[in-house]
Amino acid sequence: MAAVTELSRGEELRAFGDVVSTCTRCALAQGRTQVVFGSGNPDADLMFVGEAPGFHEDKQGVPFVGAAGKLLEQLLDGIGLARDDVYIGNVLKCRPPGNRDPLPEEIEACEGHLWRQIELIRPRIVATLGNFAMKLLSGKPTGITRVHGQEQETTLGGYRVLLYPLYHPAAALYTPRMLDVLQSDFRRIPELLGRELEPPAPVFVPVAAEPAVQLGLF
Ligand code: URA
Repeated sequence: MAAVTELSRGEELRAFGDVVSTCTRCALAQGRTQVVFGSGNPDADLMFVGEAPGFHEDKQGVPFVGAAGKLLEQLLDGIGLARDDVYIGNVLKCRPPGNRDPLPEEIEACEGHLWRQIELIRPRIVATLGNFAMKLLSGKPTGITRVHGQEQETTLGGYRVLLYPLYHPAAALYTPRMLDVLQSDFRRIPELLGRELEPPAPVFVPVAAEPAVQLGLF
């Protein structure tokens, strides 16, 4: 019998990235240069989720390489981390034309890719950048102004994570007051990375749904 080789998390993520690279689930496939799947450490404890690739990301195939990305790198540096220590992805994997906001049908078409990424990476903290990522991952409509910096423990991709809503770095680029808030929210990340998380709640399987043989009744 052939040996079954287990794939590392990085290999699984790469294989999944290959699948997503040919995605045609929404109309953004027609205008993109390439899919921007995500980048960074597949074993990261900290994952960032932004909104969607912009012009430079679409050209280079890597998230957050423009001005907002430079700021994200500075913010990471401020807490002793680099891009390679974390994983960075987006709600949408393809660039909306003219960098417009994602449409509901685009988010719906693309969100499965993000859920699977989270499931494979199993980060301890998912830090959302801006409103779109926060609303999608929290399932709540409350705006980022009210919830930034307030961590919430939740289950994503079958694992307990701390969801940590942050302002989008692009919004802080030209607004010094917002940059102060973003920096101060970032400073809490090391403490949050040390937090103990509850084990996931056991999945309830109704007895009637289990074949009686597996339950050892016969
Ligand atoms: N803004 C985002 O939300 N994501 C990127 O990848 C770049 C800019």
